[in-house]
Amino acid sequence: MAGTRRGLRIAVIGAGAGGIAAAIRLRERGVSDVVIFEKAGEPGGTWRDNTYPGITCDVPSHLYRFSFAPNPDWSHKYSPGPEIQAYMRKVAADYGVEARIRFNSEVLSATWTGGGWEIVTTQGPQGRFDAVITAVGILHHPSLPDIEGLDDFAGAAFHTARWDHSVPLEGRRIGVIGTGSTAIQIVPAIVDRAEKVSLFQRTAQWILPEPNLPIAEEKRAAYRADPALLEDQYAHLAQAFNGAFCAAVAGEAPEVYARMAQACRDNLATVADPELRARLTPDYRMGCKRLIVSSLFYPAIQRPDAELVTDPIARIEAGGVRTADGRLHDLDILVLATGFDAHHPFGDMHITGRSGRSLSETWAKGNVTYRGVTVPDLPNWFMLGGPNSPLGNFSFLMTAERQLDYVLQLVDLLRDGRASEITPRPEPTAAWTQALKDKLAGSIWASGCRSWYFDAHGNVATYPWSYETFEAEMKAPVLEDYALSA
Ligand code: NAP
Repeated sequence: MAGTRRGLRIAVIGAGAGGIAAAIRLRERGVSDVVIFEKAGEPGGTWRDNTYPGITCDVPSHLYRFSFAPNPDWSHKYSPGPEIQAYMRKVAADYGVEARIRFNSEVLSATWTGGGWEIVTTQGPQGRFDAVITAVGILHHPSLPDIEGLDDFAGAAFHTARWDHSVPLEGRRIGVIGTGSTAIQIVPAIVDRAEKVSLFQRTAQWILPEPNLPIAEEKRAAYRADPALLEDQYAHLAQAFNGAFCAAVAGEAPEVYARMAQACRDNLATVADPELRARLTPDYRMGCKRLIVSSLFYPAIQRPDAELVTDPIARIEAGGVRTADGRLHDLDILVLATGFDAHHPFGDMHITGRSGRSLSETWAKGNVTYRGVTVPDLPNWFMLGGPNSPLGNFSFLMTAERQLDYVLQLVDLLRDGRASEITPRPEPTAAWTQALKDKLAGSIWASGCRSWYFDAHGNVATYPWSYETFEAEMKAPVLEDYALSA
C-alpha cells in the first residue's frame, strides 16, 4: 500500500522526558512540523515539579538517560533531582527542542474532526494536527488526602510536588504524611534541619538498602574519554535492573526475588528497637507496592528527633495532627507525601474520538488501551507512558524510547501515505486487555496490599510481563491489529 509522502503536523502534549524524546526522534525521522504543548513555563516534567529535599532518582543514573544523549558526568549512582532536571534542559536546548515548545499552554481539549485533531489550549485554538503523541507523565496529578480538617491547619501545608521553598525548615516541627518513595527520601534529608520530624505511617514499607555512592571524577573522565565504557555500564545496569530486579518482581526470577526479599528483611533487622522494628514491618509481600530503595531511612527514623506515628490520623487541627489515641502532634509544617492519581493521566483534558464520545466516558470504569500505546476510537493518538506501561522500578526514559520505537513506525505509515488514520481494532484490544487482567490476577501487585497501582475498580496501572516481553512487543506493531484507512 504505497502512497505519496506527505508533510505531517504533529502535536506532542507535555515537555517532560517523553515529549523531549518524541520531538528529537520525530525530526530524525523527517517530521519537523512538531509543536509541543506544555502547561508550565519550563520543560522537565517530574523533575521540574518535584523539588523536595532529598530528591534523587532511585533508578541508576546511567540507565536513566536518553539513548541518543549519554551522560558521562552523572555525579552519583542515583543522581539528585536538580541534576536530572539540568540534564533534561540541556538535552532540550542542545537538540533545538525548546524552540518547538509552547509554554504555559495546557491542552484543554483535543477533538478528532475532519481527519485530524483540533487542539485547544489555555492560549486558545491551535489548529489541526495529523497526529497526537501524548507524554503527559504518569505521576503528575497530586493526590491530597481526604482527612477531616486539612484546611484548618494553621502552619504551612503543601504536597511534596508543590514544595514551598519559602518556608524555612530550621528548628521547626515537621509532620510528613505517607511512607512512599517520596517520604522515605524526604525524612533523612530534613531531620538534621528540623526540631522534630513526625512521620505518619498508614502502611509499612519494604526497603531495599542501596548506598548512593558518588561517581569519582576519574571514572567520569574515563567515561568521557571512552563512550564504549559508558555503553558497557548501561548494558550492565539494564541487565541488573530490567533483566533481574524487575523480572523478579514480575515473578520471572524466583531466586533473585528471594535474594531481594532477604536483603529487605536484613535491612529491617538493622532497626535496633524491637517495638519500632515491629511497627516498620510490612504485612504483605515485597514488591506488592513499588519497592523503596534507601540506605538512609532506617538510620533517620531511629533518631531521637524523629518519631514514627502509627496510630491512625483522626483529623487535622490548627495546631497539628490528632491521632485516634487522642494525642495531638504539634506541628509547624505539614508535608503531604500522599502520592499521585495515576489513573486519570489526562486530568480534565476533554478528548473526543471519532465516535463523538469523550475518552473520560469510555474510560469511566477503567483505562483500556491497546498495548498501552493506542486507543480504539482515537485515530492517530499515540501515548508514551500511557496506562499499562511498565512502571515500578524501571527507567521511564528507556520505556518511553521503546514506546517511541513503536509509535514512530506507525507515524511512518502516515508520513509515507500508507494510511491516513490508524486505530487499534476492538477485538485485539479486548484480547490484550483480557491477557493483561489474567496475568495481573496472579501477580505480586494483586497479592494483598493497597497501592497507587490500582484504580477504584481494581484495574492495575502497570505492565505485568517482563521488560524483555515489553521490548519484544514494542519492536514492531502487529499491523493486522490496526484499522488503517487510506
Ligand atoms: P505513594 O507511593 O503513593 O505513597 C503515598 C503515601 O501516602 C502512602 O504511604 C499512603 O499510605 C499515604 N497516604 C495516602 N493517603 C493517606 C491518608 N489519607 N492518610 C494517611 N496516609 C495516606 O506516593 P509517593 O511516595 O509520592 O510515590 C509515588 C511514586 O512516585 C512512587 O511509587 C514512584 O513510582 C515515584 N517516585 C519515584 C521516585 C524515584 O526515586 N524514582 C521517588 C519518589 C517517587 P498507604 O501506603 O497506606 O496507601
